[in-house]
Amino acid sequence: MSRPEAIGDRKCPICGKASERKWHPFCSKRCADVDLNRWLSGVYTIPAAADEDEIGIAPRPDADRD
Ligand SMILES: [Zn+2]
Repeated sequence: MSRPEAIGDRKCPICGKASERKWHPFCSKRCADVDLNRWLSGVYTIPAAADEDEIGIAPRPDADRD
C-alpha cells in the first residue's frame, strides 16, 4: 500500500515549506543538511566538557590509606 503522493500534511521542520518525499521530512537537500549540521555540532560539543572535569579531580583516597 504505497501512495504515490504522501506529501501534503507534512511540513519541512527547517523552513516550513511542504516537504519533499525525496528529502522527507525536509523540503530539500539544503534543509536536510541544515538539520544534519545541527545534529553533528550538538554531538561534537559533548565530549569536550568531560575532559576538563577529570583534571580537577583530587588524588584517590585509596593512596592515603595505611
Ligand atoms: Zn525546507
